[in-house]
Amino acid sequence: MPPLPVFRKFPARETIEGAGVRLHRAFGYSQLPLFDPFLMLDDFRAERPEDYLAGFPWHPHRGIETVTYMLDGRVEHGDSMGHAGNVTAGGVQWMTAGSGIIHQEMPKPVEGRMGGFQLWVNLPRKNKMMEPRYQELDASAIPEVTVQDGAKVRVISGKIEGVTGPVRNIIAAPDFFDVTLLPEISFTLPVRPGYMVAVYGTSGSAGFDTGRKDEISNRTMVLFAEGTRSLDFRAGRNGARFLYFSGKPLREPVAWGGPIVMNTDEELRQAFEEYQEGTFIRKRTPTPAGTRRSGGETYWGHQ
Ligand code: FE
Repeated sequence: MPPLPVFRKFPARETIEGAGVRLHRAFGYSQLPLFDPFLMLDDFRAERPEDYLAGFPWHPHRGIETVTYMLDGRVEHGDSMGHAGNVTAGGVQWMTAGSGIIHQEMPKPVEGRMGGFQLWVNLPRKNKMMEPRYQELDASAIPEVTVQDGAKVRVISGKIEGVTGPVRNIIAAPDFFDVTLLPEISFTLPVRPGYMVAVYGTSGSAGFDTGRKDEISNRTMVLFAEGTRSLDFRAGRNGARFLYFSGKPLREPVAWGGPIVMNTDEELRQAFEEYQEGTFIRKRTPTPAGTRRSGGETYWGHQ
């Protein structure tokens, strides 16, 4: 048998989502279950307002957690728990949909710029119907650790060098970092035993221990082989920036229907039925106005 590859690369693919948002999908349904416990990473960095202003009007989620991380601009949001706010540049929102949340997410420019990412983290069977919750943090709440000269890590979730990120109650307890390397820097990140690990390039370029320095570049998704215990990065001559994420696989069956991810088709069918009947939300506020699109067609949001 040939040796397993050390890593696999996936270029992000342009996709239309929500009410007409043009974004790049780093990975998603078609890679299932390679990124377990993660389901999807969407890169919605965009230059032209017409590519994102339509946004993601009212839609449901169940059975997952989402982590929205912004670099520029903001995402204005509201949800069925009565919350409303903004995820701002450098800040993060994590949301545990659990038994069900209905929300809207509308990207807006700030000083002409808008861009961010949304990572979907699967919930294990025993937590799929937990009570929904979410938390939102601005840039100042995310610690930036200089791990060595020329290597900075913003710790969104998880831990590095004794510094724990502010996003703490994600069931899968992932490491989710935004890493910046100066030109030609070599940098090693340990991977927790039993965790999968992947990186997504956002600017510049870097290589791993292959001698090349261009394995990862903007909008390249790289997934490492199971059992990888550490990653040795070598930044290219313009430096590199990438998202690093790592988590313990759930290894459970996945039944994925758009914004709802359960274990069985029966659970999916039930979720859609409840949504149509208006019983999807288990507690508190009623289904917000505008959940359904006019013309009788139900709008399912993203994915
Ligand atoms: Fe959503």
